[in-house]
Amino acid sequence: MPFRVLVTDDIDPEGVALLASEPHLRVDEVPTLPKEELLARIGDYDAIVGRSATRISADVLRQAAKLKVVGRAGVGVDNIALDVATELGVAVINAPAGNTIAVAELFFGTLISLFRHIPRANASLHAGRWDRAQLLGGELKCRTLGIVGVGRIGGEIAARALAFGMTVVGYDPYIPDSRFQSLRIRRAPTLESLLAEADVLTVHTPLTDETTGLIGRSEIARLPTGAVVCNLARGGIVADDALAAALDSGKLMGAVLDVYLKEPLVGEHPFKDRDNVILTPHIGASTAEAQRNVAVEVCRSVRDALLSGELSGSLNVAHSSGPGWTDLRPALMVAQRAAAIGRAILAGQGGRAVQRLTVRYGPDLSGAGEVLAAAAAVGALEGVLESARLNLISARSLAASRGIEIAVTESAGLPHPASVEISLAAGMQELAVAGIAPRDSAWRLTRIGGFHVDVAPRDTLVVLTNKDVPGVIGRVGTLLGDAGVNIAEYHQARLAQGGEALAAITVDNAVGPDIQKRLMELPDVLTATIVRFGATIAAGA
Ligand code: NAD
Repeated sequence: MPFRVLVTDDIDPEGVALLASEPHLRVDEVPTLPKEELLARIGDYDAIVGRSATRISADVLRQAAKLKVVGRAGVGVDNIALDVATELGVAVINAPAGNTIAVAELFFGTLISLFRHIPRANASLHAGRWDRAQLLGGELKCRTLGIVGVGRIGGEIAARALAFGMTVVGYDPYIPDSRFQSLRIRRAPTLESLLAEADVLTVHTPLTDETTGLIGRSEIARLPTGAVVCNLARGGIVADDALAAALDSGKLMGAVLDVYLKEPLVGEHPFKDRDNVILTPHIGASTAEAQRNVAVEVCRSVRDALLSGELSGSLNVAHSSGPGWTDLRPALMVAQRAAAIGRAILAGQGGRAVQRLTVRYGPDLSGAGEVLAAAAAVGALEGVLESARLNLISARSLAASRGIEIAVTESAGLPHPASVEISLAAGMQELAVAGIAPRDSAWRLTRIGGFHVDVAPRDTLVVLTNKDVPGVIGRVGTLLGDAGVNIAEYHQARLAQGGEALAAITVDNAVGPDIQKRLMELPDVLTATIVRFGATIAAGA
C-alpha cells in the first residue's frame, strides 16, 4: 500500500512533483481546507505538507490515526501543535535552510533603503518633486556591522557585508571559533562588547526565553549614537518600547523591521509614519526562489521520513550532534534490542514496572546520547504499550509519563568505542544488556547481565538460564526443532564451569507461551524468556 500524502496551501510545484514521482507515495493536492473538511479527510493520510495557512491543531492530530509526518514548507511551526505531535509520535518537519539567501538579501535591500532614503526618494519623485537636497545618504563601507546569532542567515549576511567593505563582528555563544574564522569575522566575547562598536546591529537568533527582549533599553544605550537596529528574525527579540524611545530621542538614526510581536501589523503602531524606520510585512522569505527551495526541502524530508524512516529533518526527534542518521542506525538497533531484552528478563523475574533506564555509550557515538536514549525507551516500552504510536519521537515523553527516569552518559570505560549499554532497574533488580555497533562490521549483542554473548537477534530471541551440565543444548535444540522453530544462532555462555549458564538463541519463528512452558520444564533449565521484538525504529538497519 503506498503512503498517502495530502499537500495543501499552494506548495511550489517542484516540491509536489518530487513527492508525486515516488511510486510508493500517493499525493492529493488540495487548496487550503476549512477546518471541518480537514478533520473529515485527515484520517486517510500518512503525511500532510502545508504552509502556515493550515493549522495542524491538537484535534486535527488526534483525528489523524495514520498520520506519521507533518511537513511545513518554511521555518515557523507556530501553526502546529508540536507537543501533541510528539506525544502521538508524529514527526514535524520544517525547511529551515531554503529561506536563508532571501532574508540575507532583504537585509541589504532594507538597510541600503534606510541609508539612501530610497522609499522617500521614490515617493517624492512619483509625486512630481525633485528633492535631491533632502536625500543625502550614508554608505555601508567602513561601518561596523554587529550580528547577534551567526547561524545560517547571520553567516550569509556576514559574507555579503564583507563585500560591502563593512567591519563585521559577531556574537553567538553557541558556535565554535572555527565558524568565525571561516567566515573571516571577529568574535565578540560578550553581547556588551559587540554593542559598544555596532553602527548597525542586526539580530538573527530564534525567539527563545533567552532572546525575548534581548535588545532592550540598556542594550540600545550601549550602541554608538546614530546607530541602526534591524530585526528580520522574530518579533520580540528587540523590545518595541525601547526601540521607539531610542528613535524618539535621536539615540538611533533608524531601524529596519520585517517581523512584529503581533502579525499582521494593522492599525496604529509606534513605528508607522516614521521616515527613519523601514517596515516590511514579514517578507523575508518571500521570493520565488525561497518558496521553491523550502517546498523541495520539506518534500524531500517528508519523502525520506516516510520511505526510509530518516528523521534527521524532524524537529521533535532527539538529534545526534555526532554520527549522522545512517551511521547511527546499527547503534539504535543495539539500544532498542538491548532494552527490550532487559525489560523482558526483568519482567520474568517479577520486575515489570521499570523505574530507571540508563544508557552508556562509547566515544565513537559521541553526541548521539539523546537519540540512543529514545531508541532504548522504544525497546523498553514496545512489549508493554499499544505500539502503533511508539517511535523515536514519542518514546521519551511516553517513558516520562510512566515515571521512568532516563539517564545518559558517554563513557570511555566500555569494552569497545562503539559500545551501547542499557541498564534497566525495576524494584530491587537491575540488569544491563550491551552490544556494539562498529562502523566496519555488523552490530552484535555482547552481554546480557554478567554473561558474554555474541548474537544479532532478529524478530525473536530466546534467553535461557540453565545449569552448566552436559546435554542441555541438545535437549533445547530438539524441543525447538520438534516445535518447528528454526535456530539461526545459539550462543552459550557461562561464568564458571558447572555453575549457571545462559543461552541466547536467535530463532526465525515466533515462540509461543506453550513452547516457553515446555522449555522451562526441561531438566536443568532455570528460566526461559522469550523476547519478541517490535518493529524496528531504525529502518534500513
Ligand atoms: P539558525 O538556527 O541557523 O541560526 C540561529 C543562530 O542564533 C544560531 O547560530 C544560534 O547559536 C544563535 N543563537 C541562539 N540563541 C542565541 C543568543 N541568546 N545569543 C546569540 N546567538 C544566539 O537560524 P537562521 O536560519 O539563521 O534564522 C535566524 C532567524 O531568522 C530565526 O529567528 C528565524 O525564525 C528567522 N527567519 C525570519 C524570516 C523572515 O521571513 N523574516 C525567514 C527565515 C528565518
